[in-house]
Amino acid sequence: MGHISENILSLRQELPSGVELVAVSKFKSEEEIMEAYGAGQRVFGESRPQELKEKAESMPKDIEWHFIGHLQSNKIKMTVPYVKLIHSVDSPKLFNEISSWCDRNGYSVDVLLELHIASEESKQGFSEEEVSDFLKGMQEAPAHVRIRGVMGMASLTDDEAVVRREFAHLNSVFDRIAALRLPYLDRFDLKSFGMTNDYRIAVEMGSNMVRIGTRIFGPRGVRI
Ligand SMILES: *Cc1c(COP(=O)(O)O)cnc(C)c1O
Repeated sequence: MGHISENILSLRQELPSGVELVAVSKFKSEEEIMEAYGAGQRVFGESRPQELKEKAESMPKDIEWHFIGHLQSNKIKMTVPYVKLIHSVDSPKLFNEISSWCDRNGYSVDVLLELHIASEESKQGFSEEEVSDFLKGMQEAPAHVRIRGVMGMASLTDDEAVVRREFAHLNSVFDRIAALRLPYLDRFDLKSFGMTNDYRIAVEMGSNMVRIGTRIFGPRGVRI
């Protein structure tokens, strides 16, 4: 058995039931992805529309693709047809564009709202206030886009206490949104927190969906 399938199997052993593993396959070859597939993995995450499209068109149809990267409006049409879930809806504008594209073209998609935490330099994503204003301001349920939960990243730091605090915060934002009991959030249940370096802490703090690349496929950009 190769390293990739061993890694998949050991992650499955390690992750509590109820935590979905998204195998992040960006920059990885179809051959590498097929090794994970052979170990039973069906959910894969990609971050570039063109790469996603090519893989989705040529790989087995029972793969569930997730989009996890920054999505530009002009790439919506190249992405939505291939994915079950977009993790990275980071503005009302992007949400509305996805929603109207789906209405016009007869597609449906699930999305997560990407949260940014105060201490991060990156301004990508919703603050808690923005997300709650956005949701409360929604006039009606979007016909073809279902908001399934939130995605968030902790700071890149070795300080475990900081990471722990940030995931706790993201988790509490999720709880407060869920507590709004908005009618169009009837399946608001996903918390996509945690990657190779911090998924253990993320899961401890309440994540139920982890996005893991390096721990499965090895470092990106290194040919083995
Ligand atoms: C690349 C990427 C990951 C996976 O990162 P690893 O450290 O390789 O596990 C997870 N989430 C997002 C948004 C990414 O872009």
